[in-house]
Amino acid sequence: MRHQNLWAPWRISYLQGLVDEPAKPAQDQGPGGCFLCAAFDVPLKDEQKRQRMILLADERGSLMMNRYPYSNGHLLVSPKKHVADISDLSAQERSGIMALADLGNRLLRKAMHCQGVNMGMNLGRCAGAGVPGHCHMHLVPRWQGDSNFMQVCAGARVIPQALDESYAMLCEALAAVEKEK
Ligand SMILES: [Zn+2]
Repeated sequence: MRHQNLWAPWRISYLQGLVDEPAKPAQDQGPGGCFLCAAFDVPLKDEQKRQRMILLADERGSLMMNRYPYSNGHLLVSPKKHVADISDLSAQERSGIMALADLGNRLLRKAMHCQGVNMGMNLGRCAGAGVPGHCHMHLVPRWQGDSNFMQVCAGARVIPQALDESYAMLCEALAAVEKEK
């Protein structure tokens, strides 16, 4: 493996292939073929939610784990509406995804005990958006000294299992937070 960061070995090949990438990859064919829109398919059974790593999908938007994460616990927040830019959302829709970002932040701290969180959006393919047609926010949990730890300890093969475990922990934290309301 050429890339040192084993948590995201697919990222570098994606970036290397970026120039040749078609304008619209299969994952981003509008509401019909968009995995962010698919979170709102109703009714999703628990097993389907688990497979897609969806924590929550309601009128505000969706909160799910990224299956191609920068680090374990990497979350995605997206609006329900399939639009490329947050400027295409209403003020209410924008505050909806902000509420979900807040929830995601709390879940990461509760379930993953992270010490920090990177939160941000890539709008447009040249800005790094993997699904440029459906804007979404990334929440990446961070721990003191995490990049060193991951380079040394994490292997590509442990990722799927680690992601399943994290999903279960985040679901538990979500249930606890909902009970607190
Ligand atoms: Zn979409």
